[in-house]
Amino acid sequence: MSSIIQLLPDHVANQIAAGEVVQRPASVVKELLENAVDAKATDIKLILKDAGKSLIQVIDNGVGMSVTDSRLCFERHATSKIRQAEDLFSLHTKGFRGEALASIAAIAHVEMKTKQDQEELGIHIVVEGSKFVSQEPAVLPKGTSFAVKNLFFNIPARRNFLKSETVEQRHIVDEFQRVAMAHPNIHFTMYHNGSEMFNLPISNYRQRIVNIFSGKTNEKLVPVKEETEIVNLHGFVGKPEFAKKNRSEQFFFVNDRFIKSGYLHHAIMAAYEGLLKDGAQPSYFLYLEVPPHTIDINIHPTKTEIKFDDEQALYAILRSAVKHGLGQFNVAPVLDFDRDPNLDTPYQYQNREAEYPTIQVDSNFNPFANEKSVKTTSSSSTSSYRKTEVQPSWESLYVGLKQSTQEISEITFEDDAVTSSLFEENEVEQEVKRTYQIHKKYIVSPIKSGMVIINQKRAHERVLYEEFLINMTVQQASSQRLLFPLELFFSPNEIELVRELQLSLENLGFIFDAFAESSIVISGLPITITESKASIVLDDLLTDLQNGIVTDSFSQNDTIAKSMAKSLAVRTGTYLTEKEQENLVHNLFACKEPNVSPFQKPTFITMSVEDLDKKFSI
Ligand code: ADP
Ligand code: MG
Repeated sequence: MSSIIQLLPDHVANQIAAGEVVQRPASVVKELLENAVDAKATDIKLILKDAGKSLIQVIDNGVGMSVTDSRLCFERHATSKIRQAEDLFSLHTKGFRGEALASIAAIAHVEMKTKQDQEELGIHIVVEGSKFVSQEPAVLPKGTSFAVKNLFFNIPARRNFLKSETVEQRHIVDEFQRVAMAHPNIHFTMYHNGSEMFNLPISNYRQRIVNIFSGKTNEKLVPVKEETEIVNLHGFVGKPEFAKKNRSEQFFFVNDRFIKSGYLHHAIMAAYEGLLKDGAQPSYFLYLEVPPHTIDINIHPTKTEIKFDDEQALYAILRSAVKHGLGQFNVAPVLDFDRDPNLDTPYQYQNREAEYPTIQVDSNFNPFANEKSVKTTSSSSTSSYRKTEVQPSWESLYVGLKQSTQEISEITFEDDAVTSSLFEENEVEQEVKRTYQIHKKYIVSPIKSGMVIINQKRAHERVLYEEFLINMTVQQASSQRLLFPLELFFSPNEIELVRELQLSLENLGFIFDAFAESSIVISGLPITITESKASIVLDDLLTDLQNGIVTDSFSQNDTIAKSMAKSLAVRTGTYLTEKEQENLVHNLFACKEPNVSPFQKPTFITMSVEDLDKKFSI
């Protein structure tokens, strides 16, 4: 039988390898930036068109390449960075695999210009899909320029698989920021479609972080420093009160390389214990220097995980250094995050209402004998609470069980004995009161066939969502003019995003006065958004967009409406006045699709009298 195994031609092998190295434009950005850093550049420019889909160019002022090297660098396993396996354990460069350029050249049009300092002339090379198209001497400045055009031109499936520009752009910015943060001694600039998005002059670490994440970052940073035998640690952590809802400001760098580590993240969270609200994420920018032989970075090129020799010791060092940093700056004692704002209201007794349902269905049990002692010890100021919170539950029971009058009267009688005024008011109100809020979560309302139980948060999401959509499409939303313009700080990338959404947001009622480098000035807001909520709403929207969750939905308006409805809707745990409850019920059922929230979750359920009867017949 004839043999069938063949060696793959180089360009095919390169294309296959490219699948691993280059997943999206951001992977190219990472490789080119890292090569420029390895080439000892002090000035690196990143130029993009269409989120890297049309052009990714990196220009550096590094050491450049000789004529021979400039051809060789496109070969697979061609690297100047290691010579033997042992070199892997004393690595001081980002690259070492010699795969990136071969991979990129296999799936794009690449134009490279490079010149070494001591040479008169440089060289200009064009490679398309692994094929050398041209090579000429050229007059060039010192350093290297790599232009990568038409990424995935020969793999349409890959190209089609790319996400929206916003998402791809976000990935690129992530990579750019990671490299820039690790190297404040290099001047980085980034341009997208002709406009400058970042200009980061040579600076110290703190200034670099501030330049990337906008001016307001400065006040939230607390320095951290620790020198031990196994690690030198320096960097910054965010004061707890500035914690975010997402993890977008959490960075570990090990030997100038961005890494991810769930384990080390846990160490930081442990240091913040007791200082953060539930689910809040502290910012951290931590730089670890460890002897190269104590880590194993010989992993997949696109992975950012890393193996440490002594992870447990690192954990302990990190945790105590961060704790110390927070303590030293007196961050800890002034905080009181665990306080629930609801505790400030008379409704603090509200949790006790949980006892009521059992009381009401168990006719052999006399609840008020118990309750009386509790109630009388709690001061008379609780009576207002009792009116709004207690009454509804048995009143609704009354509505649901009109027939079984005996039990009802028994209970009302008992309650009457506790506070006689309550009963009278109750009787009057019974005529008008149509909704009851329970557990600050659901609104119950009697209907002809029984009752409806509405989830207040989801219902409100639906109401707001439809309202926003209508406002955006009919474009006649009214704005409230602010007395003083509101300046909100964002990173340049976030500002770019807001610009993209400007029109839709203006249709909603936002009035933008100015877009500065790190802030936006707003002079008008939609009626539904209060001044204090504005920054939260925009923050949430940007987070949603950057996470790419909402960009995939069918339109930008829909995206905005969903995100804003989510952040503005009343939360579970919010007390609603009777009027608010009624409005909500009324508005919900005036919606086009009242049955589900914008996220397709049920907004209400109904229970018929028969359902209730069945429950009682057991
Ligand atoms: P690696 O970085 O793993 O060595 P690459 O494929 O990224 O592999 O690059 C191959 C080689 O090309 C590098 O080892 C380096 O010698 C050279 N090179 C790449 N980019 C540059 C650059 N911007 N300046 C100078 N030399 C470069
Ligand atoms: Mg490289």
